[in-house]
Amino acid sequence: SSRLADFDPELAAAIRAEECRQEDHVELIASENYASPRVRAVQDSVFTNKYAEGYPGRRYYSGCGNVDVAERLAIERARQLFGCDYANVQPHAGAQANAAVFLALADPGDTVMGMNLAQGGHLTHGNPSNFSGRHYRIVPYGLDPETGLVDYDAMERIALETRPRLLIGGFSAYSRHKDWARMRAIADRVGALFWVDMAHVAGLVAAGEYPDPLPHAHVVTSTTHKTLRGPRGGLILASGQGADFYRKLDSAVFPGVQGGPLMHVIAAKAVAFKEALRPEFRAYQRQVLANARAMAAAIQRRGYRVVSGGTDNHLMLIDLRDRPYTGTQADAALDDAGITTNKNSVPGDTRPPWVTSGLRIGTPAVTTRGFGVAECTQLAGWLCDVLDALGEGAHAQVAARIRGQVVALCRAHPVYR
Ligand code: PLP
Repeated sequence: SSRLADFDPELAAAIRAEECRQEDHVELIASENYASPRVRAVQDSVFTNKYAEGYPGRRYYSGCGNVDVAERLAIERARQLFGCDYANVQPHAGAQANAAVFLALADPGDTVMGMNLAQGGHLTHGNPSNFSGRHYRIVPYGLDPETGLVDYDAMERIALETRPRLLIGGFSAYSRHKDWARMRAIADRVGALFWVDMAHVAGLVAAGEYPDPLPHAHVVTSTTHKTLRGPRGGLILASGQGADFYRKLDSAVFPGVQGGPLMHVIAAKAVAFKEALRPEFRAYQRQVLANARAMAAAIQRRGYRVVSGGTDNHLMLIDLRDRPYTGTQADAALDDAGITTNKNSVPGDTRPPWVTSGLRIGTPAVTTRGFGVAECTQLAGWLCDVLDALGEGAHAQVAARIRGQVVALCRAHPVYR
């Protein structure tokens, strides 16, 4: 974009630098991915200019015929992809999808049960500084400290005591299958609605590689940019709940929590769903899982503890509580080696959330750029080399050496170039 470079050299340089960064480092942040050139191109379309408050065929503005085509395609493909009868593709992001569900299904002050944030839940499932934590009475459920698995017996006990109006399944940092049927049974027992936020595993669910929450949940929310590999955005799905329920969800999104929808992003969601409906997408998700399993095994072989003993999805948590450094320090040392992860609390963590004793890593992005089990095993070895060196208080040299190897591996597997 030479015109941007002339008009705004500072910004153009930042974009150029980010292009280089994304090509030349290994992305292990579990929530990130690389959208396809098609998805990126559609977001650059003239749909960005169009106001379209309302829904297809019922807009508050004229001139919406073309964007209606895009939104209808996105809705139809989302329904087909997830085998459900309701989809709202307008939420600007995962947080907005979740805000809409709260608005539609609970009143301020209601009790809502969600996964403990320190044990894998998301900000929008009840963090005190988030709207969810400020407007609802949040009761958390969590993991069995021995096994690192969700403690469903405790969940049921707490639900019986607190009688939540909503029970939230879903997570940002849990590496195992969740038992959606068991959670629905708990919700039914206490008269709660069961809501699954499948943001992290949506791509795996679409490919049939992770337990499908739709047959069990009253409502499902998601992002479209993590394992699903679309544009940044949100999504609400449901099945078998009836027109009244769907109208409530629609009006919670607009006019409840949003104004005009981002039609260029909705169009990009339509393209991403079409991509996800192809057989190649299923092969991709299988590779994501194989790569994650290979990394977990390699990391465990090197003597590092993986929370809950391994992974059934695209991510894992490395437990560093027994190490002489923090999650923050581990994250920074790996960044020096060109390996991007994020610090993350682990069960039983005594350090505060901005320090932590753990790392979260995931394989969606590296799998998109073509890494297989061999590359991921190699990568896990480098990651452990850096952590070993950090434990000995001298990681700089090791990180510099690995940085060179990381760049070479990345150049062999370009993202967009
Ligand atoms: N829900 C879960 C489970 C997530 O992990 C995330 C993203 O981190 C979100 C919701 C929020 O998505 P967004 O960042 O698009 O608002």
